[in-house]
Amino acid sequence: MHKEIYIETSKKQEIIDITDKIEKLVNITEGICMVYVPHATAAIMINESYDPKIMTDIIDALNLLIPQGKWKHDLVDNNGAAHIKAGIIGPSEQIPIIDGKLGLGRWQGIMLCDFDGPRKRKIIVSIK
Ligand code: ZN
Repeated sequence: MHKEIYIETSKKQEIIDITDKIEKLVNITEGICMVYVPHATAAIMINESYDPKIMTDIIDALNLLIPQGKWKHDLVDNNGAAHIKAGIIGPSEQIPIIDGKLGLGRWQGIMLCDFDGPRKRKIIVSIK
């Protein structure tokens, strides 16, 4: 079974906690929940969701590692850095389903990372 959800981002770069939206889709007792974003400048990441400053820190760290405006792809649509960041974080995560719930750690959440927003982003959730 798979479902789709849509998230509208509001900033150029943004990391949004989508754990609650994913959790609502879990309708089996045991299995795997795969969360996938079908976009080349967005990513899915599991990290601490308790302190929102971590999301800002991750964006700041990626900006230091991968500065804007020095990539060959910028000549195409000026978002080379966004593609590299999305490639490093990756388009998906898998979470075990245990006793009908996502088997996340106490501090973990599922994040949508948009590196070239604001946009409407599609997320595919496959539950098996
Ligand atoms: Zn591009």
